[in-house]
Amino acid sequence: MALTIHVLDYGDIELETSFLVLGHECGRVRRVPVYGFLILGGEYPVVVDTGYRDNAIMETLGMRGLQFHDNMIENQLARHGLKPGDIRYILHTHLHIDHAGKDDLFPMNTTVVLNRREMEFSVSGIMYPQYPKPDIKHLVDRIYEDGAMRFLDLEITQAEEIIPGVWCEAAGAHTEGSMNVIVETAEGLACICGDVIYDFNDQIVNQVRVNNFMEPQVTGNHSGSKRAEKAAIKRLLNNYTFLLPVHDKPARIENQQVVGRLGMSVPGPMSETLPARQWFPV
Ligand SMILES: [Zn+2]
Repeated sequence: MALTIHVLDYGDIELETSFLVLGHECGRVRRVPVYGFLILGGEYPVVVDTGYRDNAIMETLGMRGLQFHDNMIENQLARHGLKPGDIRYILHTHLHIDHAGKDDLFPMNTTVVLNRREMEFSVSGIMYPQYPKPDIKHLVDRIYEDGAMRFLDLEITQAEEIIPGVWCEAAGAHTEGSMNVIVETAEGLACICGDVIYDFNDQIVNQVRVNNFMEPQVTGNHSGSKRAEKAAIKRLLNNYTFLLPVHDKPARIENQQVVGRLGMSVPGPMSETLPARQWFPV
């Protein structure tokens, strides 16, 4: 049976535009979605990222959370007839405030899977306010529970399989331990790429404030070099048919170009499936 990816809508956040794209429209506020993903059709149901804890926690970063009843992870899973306890693995692209906020709603026999470097980086103090105490402390608790945590070593292993057709790779961008989740779908390889890409239009299609050909623009929020950020985006465009970031609508890629976007109503509660969906040209 083919694997399908379902978008989970965890609500929106409002933040300053230059956070998304380096130096772009400083001071202007943008509203972006926060997605998670549910992978079905495989050996077990798998969730990628769990959104932010609550609206109040976003204020610690000077951002505004817009999470409503429908956006609660329990309600997003219920649309697919699932409860938190039905999920076998939670995978994290990384551990920032808007990606790992609901893990404590899942039982300890749901295994949280992350790149070991991201756990280390989360407590390093670099990018400190983006790693909130309650989320990280919960993950530390999981380390001490039998089977509640699984660490990957992606910088060394290159790739590690989670279930047949789903594997992880080091992202090499955004945070030091970020990882991409690759899913084999009937229509090609899909890559859930976390925050390596924030905004397809401004970073890749129109490349604001960039002069050179095929040169992706970087985000305003990363921990490594700008060259590494650009290279990581180019690698995504090279290798995958579908790219699914957490704060922008999924895109279809051909010849390293964005050729389509997944049609969905943003903002607002929705659940879309990949494949079997409607693609709109950019
Ligand atoms: Zn994020």
